[in-house]
Amino acid sequence: MSIQLEHVTYTYGQGTPFEKTALHDINLTIHEGEFVGIIGHTGSGKSTLVQHLNGLLHPTSGTVTVNGVDLVGKTKEVKETRHQVGMVFQYPEHQLFEETIAKDIAFGPRNLGYEDAEVDRRVREAMEFVGLDYDTYADRSPFHLSGGQMRRVAIAGVIALDPSYLILDEPSAGLDPFGREEIFGEIMKLHKEKGITVILVSHNMEDISRMANRLIVMHQGEVLLDGNPIEIFHNDREALQSAGVDVPPLSQTLQALADRHIPVNIDRVHVQEAVEDLYAYVKEVRHVK
Ligand code: ADP
Repeated sequence: MSIQLEHVTYTYGQGTPFEKTALHDINLTIHEGEFVGIIGHTGSGKSTLVQHLNGLLHPTSGTVTVNGVDLVGKTKEVKETRHQVGMVFQYPEHQLFEETIAKDIAFGPRNLGYEDAEVDRRVREAMEFVGLDYDTYADRSPFHLSGGQMRRVAIAGVIALDPSYLILDEPSAGLDPFGREEIFGEIMKLHKEKGITVILVSHNMEDISRMANRLIVMHQGEVLLDGNPIEIFHNDREALQSAGVDVPPLSQTLQALADRHIPVNIDRVHVQEAVEDLYAYVKEVRHVK
């Protein structure tokens, strides 16, 4: 099972003076089970690309298939397939609108025509999954929550649709560090425990390097780099810079230390692990216990 893009080109406002080709001949396969990070400068085509993955936009030329189904068309099969691809937009809390949290999460499954008991089961499961206690929160207004909690409600609304693929566009934008950790914890849990394929758009390389096992770098509507994040940090520094994105500060620091012959593991993506490496080295050279 996979999402496949073949020769996808997309032009906004075709035939008008404002014509703008945002994607140029993209070929890409996203396999089930992957955690893909998409990074790129503003205007590089990230949002346009991900909107093709669930049929919100259709290619000007080329095809997008999800699990073998072409997303163009309005058949039942296309509709069902599109629901396999959940999308959490930037600032998803702006899309909350119901008077209670439970009603908001129920909106999607209800719209798909599930019976009350099934809607209720999905709402409870989704709330439990994102760590919102049903008895405490179900009847509360979503608008009195913290930023991180509101975003959890929005994510629960997408989980309640039980997607196989989950696209998140800058899910931590505007959150404080605590809210960011909260959201990223949820996303990792979804990936690990539910086996959901995650496609995460972010401008923050550090966030991507901590979570994704595949990195796609967009530049001027094309896929510039596609591969293992750590290998890209090692091998494609100049290409990254030309795309206007940076190697994460931790990788830069570890590389600079390694260049000075300090024996650190330059593949570390968690600060704490790098600190432990350095601490062990310092203890060794100082002969302290
Ligand atoms: P990113 O998500 O990487 O910031 P986008 O996909 O939003 O990039 O934009 C890619 C290009 O398409 C940019 O040049 C942008 O100005 C243009 N673009 C995006 N949305 C529209 C639109 N609705 N109409 C015209 N041009 C657009």
